[in-house]
Amino acid sequence: MILLDGLKISKKRNEELKDKIDKLILANKRQPKLIIIQVGNNPASNSYIKSKIKNSTLVGIDASLLKYEEDITEEELLNKISLLNLDHSIDGILVQLPLPKHLNERKILDSINYLKDVDGFHTYNSGLLFQKQRAIHAATPEGIINLLNEYKIKVEGLNAVVIGRSNIVGFPISKLLLDLNATVTICHSKTKNLKFHTKHADLIIAAIGKPLFLTKDMVKKGVIIIDVGINRLEEKLVGDVDFENVKTKASYITPVPKGVGPMTVNALLENLYKLYLIHENL
Ligand code: NAD
Repeated sequence: MILLDGLKISKKRNEELKDKIDKLILANKRQPKLIIIQVGNNPASNSYIKSKIKNSTLVGIDASLLKYEEDITEEELLNKISLLNLDHSIDGILVQLPLPKHLNERKILDSINYLKDVDGFHTYNSGLLFQKQRAIHAATPEGIINLLNEYKIKVEGLNAVVIGRSNIVGFPISKLLLDLNATVTICHSKTKNLKFHTKHADLIIAAIGKPLFLTKDMVKKGVIIIDVGINRLEEKLVGDVDFENVKTKASYITPVPKGVGPMTVNALLENLYKLYLIHENL
């Protein structure tokens, strides 16, 4: 079994990104800039934001948090975003999800200029993905593909089973795997006999949000496992995969934490850099 060490790979890629940004600064270019918008004070969001800002700073991206009260109106938030859209010193705007129920998530995400849509959640950028055009991809799917590439895992011809069909993970990763010529099956909460599908899978992407959901009896020997889940279980972070038991059958497997999570943050920073290059005509 080979552990897919997302933390190690993300550090390496962050260092490569830092080198590129250092060179730009030496050439008197402006610093790439990211704005993170948070509404309310969700503890999980606080910790994700902390990691995004810390890693941005490490690679030389100027990252700031704009934190608003839980009761901000939709109109107020849309006004703030439209001002950020107009500010040429800002390369990326990230609205940390989830938003409080009274805010229309789709409307807020689509109010971001798609050329500042660092998370790749704008309808236009999601659409480009389905047209197989170069676009800003959602960070988690992009991070997963980067991790597979770094370990030289070829997905062409593999039976890939994606469990979960969310707009931010399951659905886009399915399309990226399809573009790499995997044979993709998308499973979800209404799938009948999930085990039938997972048992035949060469590659499983688990993006469900249920602790230790995928068990050893559900997979075949030699399977490649990418565990996207982040769940809190008895004060510990665990994935959607019963790691300790499934790892005995897997050829490759990501741990939780230190697997997909840091790769997601790295992909986000790489997205920001891509947007910066577009804005600076580089
Ligand atoms: P989501 O709730 O939007 O989607 C969950 C999906 O799981 C749904 O499509 C649903 O159909 C499917 N599902 C639920 N129960 C199922 C069942 N019994 N059998 C089969 N499918 C079932 O969640 P999401 O936003 O896609 O996130 C999934 C997990 O990934 C969460 O734990 C989340 O915290 C984590 N996550 C991690 C990262 C990261 O960077 N590592 C990024 C995003 C999300």
